[in-house]
Amino acid sequence: METPEVRKSPLSRRLEAIPPSGIRRFFDLVRSVEGIISLGVGEPDYATPWHIREAGIYSLEKGYTMYTPNTGLPQLREAIARYLEENYGVAYNPETEVLVTVGVSQGMDLAMRAIINPGEEVIIPDPAYVAYVPCALLAGGKPVPIPTTGEEGFRLSHERVARAITPATKALLFGYPANPTGTVMPRRDLMALAELVRKHQLIAVSDEIYARLVYEGEHTCFAALPGMKERTILLGGFSKAYAMTGWRLGYACAPQEIIEAMTRVHQYTMMCAPIMAQMAALEAIRNGDAAVKEMAREYNHRRRAIVKGLNAIGLPCPEPQGAFYAFPSIRATGLSSEEFTEKLLMEEKVAVVHGSTFGACGEGYVRCCYAVSLPAIEEALKRMGRFMARYGR
Ligand code: PLP
Repeated sequence: METPEVRKSPLSRRLEAIPPSGIRRFFDLVRSVEGIISLGVGEPDYATPWHIREAGIYSLEKGYTMYTPNTGLPQLREAIARYLEENYGVAYNPETEVLVTVGVSQGMDLAMRAIINPGEEVIIPDPAYVAYVPCALLAGGKPVPIPTTGEEGFRLSHERVARAITPATKALLFGYPANPTGTVMPRRDLMALAELVRKHQLIAVSDEIYARLVYEGEHTCFAALPGMKERTILLGGFSKAYAMTGWRLGYACAPQEIIEAMTRVHQYTMMCAPIMAQMAALEAIRNGDAAVKEMAREYNHRRRAIVKGLNAIGLPCPEPQGAFYAFPSIRATGLSSEEFTEKLLMEEKVAVVHGSTFGACGEGYVRCCYAVSLPAIEEALKRMGRFMARYGR
């Protein structure tokens, strides 16, 4: 048989449109340099509160090591539904409208796969969390980025969204408080988006993983807006507020038809979230409130310190109202965000993430995660101040 001349790629064409995460590449670099202060990774510096860890340990001691129902432990689904009703006034049926997922990451993937047909458009703010665009692409959708600007506090303008809507638009995928900008959308702005969702019969996929980390104003649950429960996939999780990133636990709440579709994908590709993580999450949602509030109070001190410090060294920083990220402008240096992060890492051993990782409109900014100790923030600011004395203009 003749050998074919053109090599047949073993990979799927769909993946070609998806570059490896810029953050991962950067962190391989970070690991290779000693004495680094990292404001890079977006995760709490706390270990999971002890009573929550204990619940996970207890689950192992009791021999709870088996599968759970596909949609998750009934008592956890009930606790999630109760929590959402008590906190945001939105009532989900735990039997049919709640799905326990392996983090918000999986919830987002399931949401996209459950609702997107090939070529349908998904409106996504720019900049936004790194997984939004790839999740839409992996589901065969077409991401449509909507520019947001530092001057407007990176709020998603409903006028710009309205102009981007076409007959092919299927969904809006966003998350507030936002990663990487810390933006919290005021309720009236979300109401304007809700009106578009209603008018054009779209689905809103609302990533509310940072809902508990709001320092100014208050969190608005998108599904709780009038008429939106029927049109929203609400994604929530335990990673950030409860310092449980490694447990890999989250949830999705949506109308029954959508949860059933998401569960169909989930049951063939994941079966269920790990039982120990579900037991720990149950303890978190029942009794974790005090710990969440304590951590949020501490993040708020750090937020004030970093915003003040960044502005003082010539890196103007819009006020982040939630999550745990500051997103200062680095335009004064004349460097691209990638050059800035690489030079800062090599010359001053401080790791931040270049804004362009989060979309074209993130260029000119860097993301600094302030879920690190105050002394580390102060030292990082000192080093960045030295850097700015060389590069600031
Ligand atoms: N959504 C946002 C906005 C995030 O920042 C992250 C993690 O950084 C995730 C989702 C993923 O969360 P999880 O750990 O629940 O998969």
